[in-house]
Order: sequence, then structure tokens, then C-alpha cells
Amino acid sequence: MFVPILRRAPRTLLSTSSALLRVHNHKVAAPALSRFLSTHITNLACEDHEPGFLGSVETYFDRAAKISGVSEKSLAGIKAVDSVLSVKFPVEIDEDNHVIIDGYRAQHSRHRLPTKGGIRFSDEVDLQEVEALASLMTFKCAVVDVPFGGAKGGVKLNPKNFTPSQLERITRRYTMELCQKNFIGPGIDVPAPDVGTGPREMSWIMDTYRQFNPQDVNAAGCVTGKPVSQGGVRGRTEATGLGVYYGIREFLQFPEVQKMTGLNGRIAGKTVIVQGFGNVGYWAAKFFHNNGAKIIGIGEHDVAAYNRNGIDIEAIFKYRAKKGSFRGYGNIEIIEEPITVMERECDILIPAALERQIGLKNVKKIKAKVIGEAANGPITPDAHDYLVSQGKVVIPDLLLNAGGVTVSYFEWLKNLSHVRFGRMSRKWEEAGKSKLLTLVEENAGRQLTPQERRAVIHGAEEHELVYSGLEDTMISACEETRTTAFAKNTDFRTAALVNAIQKISTVTTQSGQMFL
Ligand code: NAD
Repeated sequence: MFVPILRRAPRTLLSTSSALLRVHNHKVAAPALSRFLSTHITNLACEDHEPGFLGSVETYFDRAAKISGVSEKSLAGIKAVDSVLSVKFPVEIDEDNHVIIDGYRAQHSRHRLPTKGGIRFSDEVDLQEVEALASLMTFKCAVVDVPFGGAKGGVKLNPKNFTPSQLERITRRYTMELCQKNFIGPGIDVPAPDVGTGPREMSWIMDTYRQFNPQDVNAAGCVTGKPVSQGGVRGRTEATGLGVYYGIREFLQFPEVQKMTGLNGRIAGKTVIVQGFGNVGYWAAKFFHNNGAKIIGIGEHDVAAYNRNGIDIEAIFKYRAKKGSFRGYGNIEIIEEPITVMERECDILIPAALERQIGLKNVKKIKAKVIGEAANGPITPDAHDYLVSQGKVVIPDLLLNAGGVTVSYFEWLKNLSHVRFGRMSRKWEEAGKSKLLTLVEENAGRQLTPQERRAVIHGAEEHELVYSGLEDTMISACEETRTTAFAKNTDFRTAALVNAIQKISTVTTQSGQMFL
């Protein structure tokens, strides 16, 4: 439950009270690591001495930096968080109460603009978490060649404790702060959904930005992950989960991965456990299920569901949406300590909830052969090293969950071009293919059936173009990561980071941004 911390002030005071603001524009090293950020959940996974989320990102960065061949000067610039915004603002909750809300936005790197990254609504949010997530976004964009810098935002609240209209007021007020401090705009910084936010919040953000910038013809590009009716792109909702599916499918086909894990290259028949059944976890599970894998375990914040013969993803999703829990769903074992579902036997484990879910306390119990990081930062550095030492394949977050930002990039392009993908070309392509088919039919002396003809001439719909662009991106990024891992004789996370660091360094040095 939220606790109203302020009685309602007189209306004049409310309407004139300005948010407390702290804007830094500091190209200096990120703050020291916080080692004691553990929540009650991560306490079950991590030892006290393990680094917090920001510390983990920095540790991984430092390892990759050492073998990247990039100069110390460039590395210092790349590592530092560029700008952070920290605001407090009052929001009226009802006639008698208002609460003070903490909001953050960090822009890690502006080597390419706009910066890009989700907005998280969670009571665990703090500035360090936002900085860590912003850094990851920079590296993620570089890994998949999306021409953005990295950013992230957070609002410290549990959305479950607020009504939709209260959430709307909070989201609009937070956006006002971003507008006033120049932390949002199609060419400046473009948020997207993350934990606790979705298309609804993105609509509110766009509408608020529009009120402040009525002259901006590209206003729809100020945020991605919008509903299609508001300028969103078809395929964005499922993009991160689909990218997770494409990425793991690719890795399974690498001979060295097959050798390490003893798994064949097919998805069909693989056993999968997913932790977190929100946007990313649900869609990842659905794509694996639809392609013949068996989802045997699903972890949520209250309990986990387990059935070694497989769980019907759509049925359990609908059940949980209605009842709020897996409890009472037929034919599953309920696991009361949900984090332990990750310790069950399976081929592929997909943490898709939050950071720091696998640490030194539980890593030795992980039996999966492939661990695909759908969430950001789910594994601590020591736990990662243990998994790698055991011959397990860890596919890192900055590569595997980059499908979301990839399709956000497509949405942004759509918004700037003001036209749906395929609108100008679909019929033209169909007509060309139809003419070609007629020639082939004449020469072959056989007429295709109407179904055969339709299947061949069909011009791509928007979502098909998006899926194909995403698949191509994930395949290239996985292959690039693999090549570097081989060349540098290192793990896949370090390899992905080396690639990211080298690409960012090339942009900053060749553009002259490193003139200082
Ligand atoms: P979401 O809010 O839609 O879903 C998160 C789910 O995890 C919720 O169902 C929540 O109840 C559950 N959860 C919370 N704590 C848990 C716990 N301790 N154990 C098990 N389940 C728990 O968020 P999302 O958008 O699916 O994001 C999930 C992760 O993926 C985050 O790390 C996020 O940063 C990352 N990510 C998201 C996107 C995106 O496009 N949404 C893109 C890249 C990365």
C-alpha cells in the first residue's frame, strides 16, 4: 500500500510548488558501486559481498575493456554516465492526499543521438539502477547496430498500489519534468516500456510531450512502444521475447555450443524454464512453445508453476490474468519459493524478471545447459564465471534482449517517415511478382492454384517486415559475438561487450567527439 506522506496542501501551494530538481551534466566517472542494494529476493540469490547491478555492469565492462584494444582515454569516456536527472514531484492522489514521487532519467552516452531506453515503474528503482540500465542500453544498441546512445528512466513506485487515473497523473507529471529539463524528444532522448510500464504509459508520455511541443511534427517519435493506433509499429509488443527466441535458436545452431552442451540444434523438444511472466517472459515462452519446445516451469513474484510434461502458455497466461496467480490452475505443481524453479532440470533457462536473480548463493544449483538472459543483469559476475567454468552457455542480456530496442528503432523510423512500412511498395511488389509468375506458368505449361499463387505473390505486411528485420539483426549480432568470442578466446558476454566498446570508440574518435 502506498503511504500518503503529505497532507493535501492548499490548492495555490499545490499548483505552484515546483519539483525539486537535480540535473548534472557531468562527464565524470560513475559513482562508486553500491554493494548492499539487495532486496529480499536477491538476498536468496546473492551474497552480501557481490556487487550491485551498477557494479556488475562496471565489472563486465572493465573485463572487456582490457582486451578491446581501445585507448584508456576512450575507455574512460565510454564508461562514464553522461547526464542524470533526479526529480521529486507531488501528485494528487485524492481530494485529501498527495504523494511525493521520485523520478530519474540517466543518459549514459550521447555519442549517437537520440539516446534511447525504457522507463521502469518499480519501488526498487534508484539512481544507481537507472545508471546501470542506461549503460547497458548504450552497449546493447552498439551490439545490434542501432544508431542510438543509451538511456534509462525510472519512477519509484509500485504500480499495483495506484489506480489507472493516478498512474496517468504520475506518468504525465514525470513527462512534464522530462520536457522541462530537455530530457525527451525525437532527436534528444526517446523512452520505451520496461518493467511496470507498457503501451498505455507510452501513449500518455507522447500525448504530454505533444502538449508541450505542439509545433513538433515528429512528436510521435518522442517515445516508442506505443499502441499501433498512436503511431506504434506492429510487432513491438512481442519484439523482446521474439528476439530472445531468435537469439537462443541461433546459438543452438553453433557447433561449439552443441559440443559444450550436448544439445542438438533444434528448438523442438527442448525443455525450457522461464522466470518472470510479464511482457518479455510471456512472449519468449510463447515463441518457444509455438516452435515445439516444452515450457516446464514459469516463475513469478509470488509462486512458480511447474509441470515436467509442459505447460500450455496461452491457457496459463489467461488464467493468471484473470485470477492474479498461478494458484488453482490445473495440472501444475505450485512452488512456494518461486526463485527455486530456476534450479530444476531443463535444457534452457530464461531469466526474464529482474536483475541479480542468480548469484553465488544459488548458482551451483542451476542445472540448465543454456542460460539466456532475457532480463537485464540477472546474473552476478561471480555467478557468471561459475556457470562458464561449468561449460554452460550464457547468452548475455546486451545481445539477447536487444530485440526490443531494435524494433523501437523501426518504430522511430516509421514515426519520422510518417508512413506505415510497406504502404508504398506492397502492391507494386505483388504486381511485379504476379507478372513474373504468369511468364513462368506459360513456360512451364502449368497453372498454379489460387492458394499457391497467393502464397508466392503475397507482399509483406508491416509486422512481417518488422519480424524479418529483427531476425536478420539478431542473426548478425549473434554471429559477430561468436566470431569475437573465438578470436579473443573469451566468453560470449565479454565478446559482445568488446564489439560494443570498439564500435562506440570508432564513432567517438572518428567524429572528433573526443577532442577534450
Ligand atoms: P514486466 O513488468 O512486463 O514483467 C516482469 C514480470 O516479472 C512481472 O510479471 C513480475 O510480476 C515478474 N517478477 C517480478 N519480480 C519477480 C521475481 N522475483 N520472480 C519472478 N518474477 C518476478 O517487465 P518486462 O518488460 O517483461 O521486463 C522484464 C525484464 O526484461 C527486465 O529486466 C527488463 O529490464 C528487461 N527488458 C525488457 C524489455 C522490454 O521491451 N519490455 C526490453 C529489454 C529488456
